Parts: sequence; C-alpha cells; structure tokens
Amino acid sequence: MKIGFIGLGNMGGHMARNLASAGHEVVGFDVAGVEIDGVQKAGSSAGAAQGAEVVITMLPNGEILRSVAAEIIPILQPGACFIDCSTVDVESARAVASDWPLSVDAPVSGGIGGADAGTLTFMAGGPEEAFAIAAPLFDIMGQKSVHCGESGAGQAAKICNNMILGATMIVTCEAFALADKLGLDRQKMFDVVSTSSGYSWSMNAYCPAPGIGPESPADNNYQPGFAAELMLKDLRLAQQAAKAVGAATPLGEHAALEYAKFVENEDGQGKDFSAMLPRFSKMGQA
Ligand code: NAD
Repeated sequence: MKIGFIGLGNMGGHMARNLASAGHEVVGFDVAGVEIDGVQKAGSSAGAAQGAEVVITMLPNGEILRSVAAEIIPILQPGACFIDCSTVDVESARAVASDWPLSVDAPVSGGIGGADAGTLTFMAGGPEEAFAIAAPLFDIMGQKSVHCGESGAGQAAKICNNMILGATMIVTCEAFALADKLGLDRQKMFDVVSTSSGYSWSMNAYCPAPGIGPESPADNNYQPGFAAELMLKDLRLAQQAAKAVGAATPLGEHAALEYAKFVENEDGQGKDFSAMLPRFSKMGQA
C-alpha cells in the first residue's frame, strides 16, 4: 500500500519505520527534515500525500493538523483514507472529518517505547469503511485498536483516559508524600495499596516511588516516559472539551492546574509526569 506519513517526530518516526518494515511504500515528510530508514523523503506534506492510498499524520496539535489537512485534502486521490494519530482537540478532529469524510481520528496510548516496538493502542473514531482501511495498519503499528464511534470519538476516549491518569497520578503521589510524613514505609504502602481498593495503573504499573513496584521512570531519575508537559497538554484538551459540552470535571480541572504549575512555574518541564512525587515531598518540607 502507498502511504504518506506526515510528522516524523518521536512517535511518528517509529510508526513510519514500522510500516515500511512491514513492506508498505512509505513517503514521509517532516518540517524538521527528518530522515527515517526505509521511508522515502518528500519535500512537503502535499508531496507525501500525492497518490497515496492512506495518509497518516502524527503532529503536535490541532492547529497544525488543520493547516496540514488544508494543504493535502485538495490533492488527496478519491478513496484515500486520512488517519490522524496525533492527540488533538475533538473539534479539530471533527473539522478534518467534515472536509474529508473517509477520515479516522486515532490517537494512541503507549508512548515512544510503544511506537518503537509496534505495541501502541489506537482509539479510533470515524466511519466503518475508513476504520476497515486503517485497522490492518494499526495492527502493524500497535497491538490493539478500538473503534470507539463516529468522528471525534477516538480523541474523546484519549482525553477521558488521560484525565483519569493525570488525576490518579497526582493522588498517588500525594498519598506517598503523606505516607512518608506518617512514617509509613513506601514498600509497605505499595504492598497494601497495589492489592487494595486504592490500586490503579499509576500505582501498580508505573509506581512514582523509586525502587518500588515494577521498573518505571521513577527508577531513572524521572526521565520520561511520558513528559509532564504532554500530560498538561492532554488535561487542557480535556478541559477544553468539558467546557464545550458543559461537563462537570472538577478533579480534571484541578489536575490541569497542578500540572500547569509544575511545568510552567516550577522545574517540571522535561520530567516524567510521575515526578509529582518529589514535588509533593519538597512542598511538605516547606
Ligand atoms: P514530536 O514533537 O516529537 O513530533 C511532531 C513532529 O511533527 C515533529 O518532528 C515536527 O517537526 C513535526 N511537524 C510540526 N509541524 C509540522 C508540519 N506543519 N508539517 C510536517 N511536520 C510537522 O511529538 P511526538 O512525541 O511524536 O507526539 C506526536 C503526537 O502524538 C502529539 O500530538 C502527542 O500529543 C501525541 N502523543 C505523544 C506521546 C509521547 O509519549 N510522545 C504519547 C501519546 C501521544
């Protein structure tokens, strides 16, 4: 299959390489001039999309997605499927789909490691016929894809998931900082909570306390992993969506404020999102 791939950054570069390794003809473009093994280099987004049966985008935000979509939609061949894997606002996903109905919004979970290993999870929105074209490519780049509903449903699933993740990570870190003050050993706290009703992915699979639980960014001096600024981006997208539809999300709102302080006013930029634990520990000493 001839695939145009636009946005060859930390995630997209690996995803394009995996598609090329699986035997697809992949033509890629990135404004940063990135080159990827096995991927032909185009000079523009339109150059990558020209003659493609599928175009995949993996871009920083909705504004950039809309500008790339405006450039490529006029030259897409009839029957071409447009798959956006970026994490963007629901409105941008729906705007692209209204201009090119054979579109899928398919944000991912699994991070750079998952993109490299081809083990991402795709949450997809769009018409059945577009999902049917995209699904075999999701199987190459990932290990699971869920067709969540109409256009925008993939982005909706992504931001709801990450709103839960952001809030649970914060409260997991708060609980460790409180346990420290109460003289409760961190390992004992993990042993209890990870098998009790306070368990969560943040505690059990990605424990924010170094040396406790399975290996996680906490064991690597909080190198990401999933950077705090990306969590902030997703929490803001969740708040934008909540305001647009009038949903009450008080904890999601507060999680966004905490990550904003951490990333924008403190030293959180470039650290893993689980570095909220040393942040709370430091605050507690003041
Ligand atoms: P990145 O910044 O590494 O990659 C984005 C790439 O897009 C860059 O290489 C940039 O040069 C390119 N780009 C920007 N504008 C462009 C344009 N107009 N035309 C062509 N290329 C352009 O980001 P990333 O980590 O690869 O993330 C990509 C998307 O995936 C984001 O929406 C992010 O929120 C989402 N995501 C990231 C992760 C993660 O762990 N990094 C996890 C899940 C989802």
